[in-house]
Amino acid sequence: MNDKRIKLLNKKGFSEKGKYILYCMEACQREDYNPALEFAIHLSNNYKKPVLVAFFITDKYRFSNQRYYRFMLEGIIKTKKKIEERGVKFLVQKDKFLEGCLRLGKDAFGIITDKNYLKTQRKWREDLALMSEISVFEVETEVVVPLDYISSKAVPYSYLYRKKLEKLIHSFLRDYEKIEPEFNSTGMDLESIDFEKPEDYLKILNIDKTVPTVEKYYTGGSEEAEKRLKEFIEKKLPYYKDYRSDPSKDYQSNLSPYLHFGQISPAKVVNEILKEYDYEDANIKSFLNEIVVWRELARNFCWHNPNYNQYEGIPKWAKESLEKHVSDKRPYLYTLEELEHGLTHDKYWNAAQKELLETGKMHNYMRMYWAKKLIEWTDHPKTAFDYACYLNDKYELDGRDPNGYAGISWCFGSFDRPWQERKIFGKVRYMSDKGLERKFNIKKYVEKYL
Ligand code: FAD
Repeated sequence: MNDKRIKLLNKKGFSEKGKYILYCMEACQREDYNPALEFAIHLSNNYKKPVLVAFFITDKYRFSNQRYYRFMLEGIIKTKKKIEERGVKFLVQKDKFLEGCLRLGKDAFGIITDKNYLKTQRKWREDLALMSEISVFEVETEVVVPLDYISSKAVPYSYLYRKKLEKLIHSFLRDYEKIEPEFNSTGMDLESIDFEKPEDYLKILNIDKTVPTVEKYYTGGSEEAEKRLKEFIEKKLPYYKDYRSDPSKDYQSNLSPYLHFGQISPAKVVNEILKEYDYEDANIKSFLNEIVVWRELARNFCWHNPNYNQYEGIPKWAKESLEKHVSDKRPYLYTLEELEHGLTHDKYWNAAQKELLETGKMHNYMRMYWAKKLIEWTDHPKTAFDYACYLNDKYELDGRDPNGYAGISWCFGSFDRPWQERKIFGKVRYMSDKGLERKFNIKKYVEKYL
């Protein structure tokens, strides 16, 4: 086992009378390239105890809605099947993460979980380590290079992250072996909710059902992610550098919902790409800059900045500069409701919002334009920040993710430098509709969604 990803969160020791090794899955919802699962099997073989994987679903989570729950459930059904095919019992239970882990943990030998960089989920793990009577391990499954190997502090710029990452990336791309379980645990008699279709489970959840599901555009699951990856490698990656930013073209990988739910591993994506292309290829460099550098910098940002999802978390220079311009006259002011329904004067912005409402995923370039305009059309940048987080987390399949908070913060000056001072934005970088018209066939994008 490569133990660089594994951290012991407490010093309670294993429970000799424990009946199983418990892996509480949360961030890493897959069978393949799952170092937390492999670590559980490794302990199981060493200590002669079977593995039990548990996945808890709650309707008590703040943002719960049927759009992304459906996507997650589609993935879980397939992951459960694949893990059980390896002879490992997989339970799905309706419970909160902490409560479920503690309850099943009472009969466990030791507990393993995966790492999550967001405040709420991080606290679940800290509380689990504190409240459990046995050892709790955390495995860093969702990044190519574990955060502490890059820095123990917040890294303010992507070029600094890239520099450190480039030295380490190759050594971390090699450690994904599968271990054969010596004990078959599938016969264990424990209560589990078994469902064949996501609808069966959605029915029993008291969640927001007003946000339409988007299975027409995105179906959840590792196999679907791998299909998209294959298509991306074959058809889009050779043009990625030049076309990825163009909203009128479809040259992004569209993997973000799958990465968000841990249905595909970023390391697997990179390894598959490097089987076909040279690391030095300009398109590969450009893609790795997004999927490794920016994605992992976003995790570093959330881990080290407790205000990552708040206006208070942006850099001091940006906040001061934005606030100097709070009394500047805004050309338009919109309510949250008008914004939510895409009812502004700006057809480009409305098209982006409609893309989000309809498909569950807005194009990357439009996300920047979209959040920047909120600064221009609300009374205070704090309102703009809150609206951006609310809409992003509610409608994006990949929302509620470090990338979202880092992306929104970038629009408010994080990871960026001061620009020439102007109205409303101060020294924070501005984006205009003229820029969209100059760079892209933006009318084509509008026609698609309006
Ligand atoms: P690709 O171009 O194919 O990139 C591959 C992967 O690289 C992505 O799946 C993602 O994991 C990573 N990536 C790409 N761009 C970025 C970036 N700027 N920062 C960090 N990682 C990146 N991404 C989310 O995953 N969830 C969000 O909620 C989210 N909200 C955003 C909000 C704003 C205002 C902005 C400016 C960006 C946001 N992003 C978010 C980042 C980026 O827009 C999306 O990751 C990207 O559009 C996803 O599409 P893709 O998978 O086709 O991207």
